[in-house]
Amino acid sequence: MLPGWLAGNYRANDLLIDLKPLAERAGARLHLADVIGLNTARKMLTLSSGEELEFDLLSLATGGETDISSLATLGDRLLPVRPVGLFMERWSAFLERAALASTVNVAVVGGGAAGVELAMGVESAIRGLFRNARVALVTPGEGFLVGHAPQVLTRALEELAKRRIDVHFAQAAGTEEGFLLSNGLHLSVDCAIAATGSRAPRWLARSGLTCSAAGFIAVSGDMRSISHPSIFAAGDIVDRVDRNLERSGVHAVKAGPVLAANLRAAIDGTAPARYQPRNRTLYLLALGDKRAIVSWGRFVAIGNWAWRIKDWIDRSFVARYTQPAQAGR
Ligand SMILES: Cc1cc2nc3c(=O)[nH]c(=O)nc-3n(C[C@H](O)[C@H](O)[C@H](O)COP(=O)(O)OP(=O)(O)OC[C@H]3O[C@@H](n4cnc5c(N)ncnc54)[C@H](O)[C@@H]3O)c2cc1C
Repeated sequence: MLPGWLAGNYRANDLLIDLKPLAERAGARLHLADVIGLNTARKMLTLSSGEELEFDLLSLATGGETDISSLATLGDRLLPVRPVGLFMERWSAFLERAALASTVNVAVVGGGAAGVELAMGVESAIRGLFRNARVALVTPGEGFLVGHAPQVLTRALEELAKRRIDVHFAQAAGTEEGFLLSNGLHLSVDCAIAATGSRAPRWLARSGLTCSAAGFIAVSGDMRSISHPSIFAAGDIVDRVDRNLERSGVHAVKAGPVLAANLRAAIDGTAPARYQPRNRTLYLLALGDKRAIVSWGRFVAIGNWAWRIKDWIDRSFVARYTQPAQAGR
């Protein structure tokens, strides 16, 4: 829903979930802090608040970090898409700062579904605000909508062209004014959004957990660490050892109930379940103008009806966790 918020289709409250009432209903203690360390030998978490939490069983779902290592020279003009709350604050501040400018240049780096949606959302957001607004999308060719059918790429490129979003198939390196692209071009930007995919959190490397080559927690089909049976994990923070699974919200959400059941099974001493993803995953790429591209295996379609389905799915998901009558089900 974040690109929809950029495009003005959602208010901030539409896409944020307050964990406090959820935790209360579940009888859970909520610590609003970052995990900064995990000591698997002592079964202990260290939090940014300075607290230490002991555990018998642990479930980790802290996602990945946005990889901005090659872009950091851009300084405060660079807005990593995560953490989402901070991104929203910084984007709003940028729009306020730029309010009197007649020209703005915004670049989105990253050609995954997130980058494409964000570029469209940015274009919808700034089109009416500035006399001269330019939006660019920078992505290596081999990183553009990976895993989607070729027709999805074609439709997405057509839509980007219609909206006059410049697509640069290149690797970007941050400079003080913008980006130096691997094709030799220099791109000057007022604001750059990094949607460069997930990198494993650094504290994992020191935890003693067995991780994949990319540094994510190695889990088996039951979403359990292959090295520490008392630790479970799901979402962008894991790599499955038995199969390749792309990092996506669909898998993060669908693996959740399996992980919850397996935590109970671990307590009861019963057999765990496996998270078995479907062969084809439905993706709906929002175009910022209340239309979306449907990408489902080789099936591709586009229209307002697709956006309405996405809108209904997204709103229903958030409502499940924000409307007290339904929360906790
Ligand atoms: C713009 C955008 C559009 C996307 N669109 C789609 C889409 O249409 N379909 C799709 O399937 N996927 C989509 N994705 C990908 C999807 O958002 C992720 O794959 C999914 O959110 C991963 O879920 P997660 O629970 O693992 O991590 P996250 O959603 O990143 O959640 C992690 C949570 O943990 C918290 N956290 C992080 N670090 C710590 C820490 N150290 N201590 C404590 N808490 C921590 C974070 O604050 C956050 O609340 C999109 C991503 C982006 C950025």
